[in-house]
Amino acid sequence: ESKALGRNRFCYFTHSMQEAAQTRMAISNDLRRAIGNDQLTVFYQPIVDMHAGGIVKAEALLRWQHPENGEISPVDFIPIAEHTGMIVGIGNWVFQRALQQAGEWRITQPDFTVSVNVSPVQFYRSNEAYYREWLNNCKTLGGPPGAGPAVSIEITESLMMASDETVMDKLAAFQNAGIKISLDDFGTGYSSLSYLRKFNLDYLKIDQSFVHNLEQDTANCALCEAIIVMAHKLGLKVIAEGIETPGQRDMLARAGCDYGQGYLFGQPIPADQFDVLLKNAPPRLAGQPVHA
Ligand code: C2E
Ligand code: MG
Ligand code: MG
Ligand code: MG
Repeated sequence: ESKALGRNRFCYFTHSMQEAAQTRMAISNDLRRAIGNDQLTVFYQPIVDMHAGGIVKAEALLRWQHPENGEISPVDFIPIAEHTGMIVGIGNWVFQRALQQAGEWRITQPDFTVSVNVSPVQFYRSNEAYYREWLNNCKTLGGPPGAGPAVSIEITESLMMASDETVMDKLAAFQNAGIKISLDDFGTGYSSLSYLRKFNLDYLKIDQSFVHNLEQDTANCALCEAIIVMAHKLGLKVIAEGIETPGQRDMLARAGCDYGQGYLFGQPIPADQFDVLLKNAPPRLAGQPVHA
């Protein structure tokens, strides 16, 4: 009887693995077509100055409108794009879009910056020529010169764990071109504080899992405060992700957090809607200074 059970479980397991593999295959085939068919768009989510108020940055977030299945989350398709290598082309496209868009927003707001997520695979798989083209684009596109590149990039801890020479060189090339680097989802990976010393980063993004229950969980609150103090002592600015309530905003502002991002300030929206948001938002409304 245990044999029968084993066999059943084995069958079930095989079946689900096969299904998962088929789903991945279908997504990767559809994604290949999506690229040429205008199914991918870039949305922008506001990032506000927690003290002065106002929208000062945006994060570029990829969206896929599938013709039959509706919107597919980047959480579901980015890993497949990474696995197949398609993320290199897709990531380049997102970067170009964001750069062009940031250049337009800089006409009215000269230091506005759009932050782009860059997958570790883009660092591993991109060659020198491709890389140089990126950096050149940053100089030619991106609005009036003087305020530095109009884009910044977000990387994750997994990239820094690789601590590969070529990765280090590529990060350094970004920084030499004046592109600021954020460490995304801080606190969720294998956070090793030694990276913060080894890599000369500009921003640290506190993961939303620390922010969500900030008002109920005093331990989380202590962690956020400690992260902010540590980051500042190392010369990094802090962005808190996933702020949904005024209470969370106020606690983070009191703890000295520099920038905030989350549904309280605005969801990710298409560029034309973001235009309206930027034009209509009185510079001090969105962030609502806490100590004013
Ligand atoms: P991320 O870079 O950490 O982006 C923040 C995610 O949190 C976004 O999810 C955003 O919509 C969501 N978010 C923002 N504020 C709130 C809030 O107040 N509450 C809640 N519950 N969620 C909030 P999204 O757009 O689904 O993206 C998920 C992840 O997919 C991103 O996490 C990023 O890792 C990846 N991703 C998205 N676009 C790109 C891209 O162009 N390239 C790469 N390589 N990855 C991307
Ligand atoms: Mg991000
Ligand atoms: Mg994040
Ligand atoms: Mg994330």
